[in-house]
Amino acid sequence: MSRGVIHTPAFMPVGTIGTVKAMSTDELKEIGAEILLSNTYHLYLRPGHEIVASLGGLHKFMNWDRPILTDSGGFQVFSLSALRKIEDDGVHFKSHLDGSMHFLGPKEAMEIQSVLGSDIAMVLDDCTPYPATPEYAMDSLFRTIKWAEQCRELQKEGQALFGIVQGSLYENLRKKCIEELVDIGFDGYAVGGLSVGEPKEEMHRLIRFTAPLLPVDRPRYLMGIGDLGDVLVAVDAGFDMFDCVMPTRNARNGTLFTSQGRVSIKREEYKADRGPLDPDCGCYTCRNYSRGYLRHLFMSREILSMRLNTIHNLHFYLNFFRNMRESISEGRFMEFRTRWQEIVS
Ligand SMILES: [Zn+2]
Repeated sequence: MSRGVIHTPAFMPVGTIGTVKAMSTDELKEIGAEILLSNTYHLYLRPGHEIVASLGGLHKFMNWDRPILTDSGGFQVFSLSALRKIEDDGVHFKSHLDGSMHFLGPKEAMEIQSVLGSDIAMVLDDCTPYPATPEYAMDSLFRTIKWAEQCRELQKEGQALFGIVQGSLYENLRKKCIEELVDIGFDGYAVGGLSVGEPKEEMHRLIRFTAPLLPVDRPRYLMGIGDLGDVLVAVDAGFDMFDCVMPTRNARNGTLFTSQGRVSIKREEYKADRGPLDPDCGCYTCRNYSRGYLRHLFMSREILSMRLNTIHNLHFYLNFFRNMRESISEGRFMEFRTRWQEIVS
């Protein structure tokens, strides 16, 4: 990839609307982010992909010269838009911002991602809701496969394209989808439609089922799942790429991930605590501020609270992934998994 190397298993901080909330891109580089995820649906609605293009493309627009993966917008259309009508050639939907009507099909999804200039584009998929009957899941799956084929035909040189596996909780449908996508041929393969309300055991079952069916010589991306307990299960199964709003969203809500487990910084017990948030963390926040100060900022709703909390949580996540990669290359992943499974659950 021309914009930089991505070490796997990789975690992609989420910059939904062209910014990882509360972070500058220099800060993201400092904590070691190698790739960001951004969202077609959001940037299309605001400010509009043509505006982003006129300001130099997404990398220039947000001042990030490393790789960017853009989601196609399928998931957001299904999760955010109040009104949507799915047809065979795409989805009519109502903007969650101003109620205006729009249409997103494979052609539109590819066009927008091409104009944004992301390094990795995702196919438009029909994200099957949970629960879904086998009949509904199959209909939805055929749309996903057809759209994937159309997106592949429209792929532009210089932009990688990943296929997305749907099929709800049905193993036969997941398998069928993988076979069809591999036939079409993509630069990478993602599994979508998980963590949409199904029980955790079901999600883990599908993670273990799908990973070994995906081509080993292509990146395998588990979409939207970032609970570290789930990540351990998925990496063990064979997944290479992850994204999730958990570290950033939780940071803004005062929930912090540490080597001793989760910390809710608003708790009274931290009021006069002079220790660092996480004694094992080398991030800017932990090197310079006490738990007592972080609690004070959070209780006072100071902007700096969100900034310092986000720096720590993302640093913690990226460091977790760094240590996990090291454990894999040194052949001690199982030991790493056992140790962390307890802390993060
Ligand atoms: Zn820290």
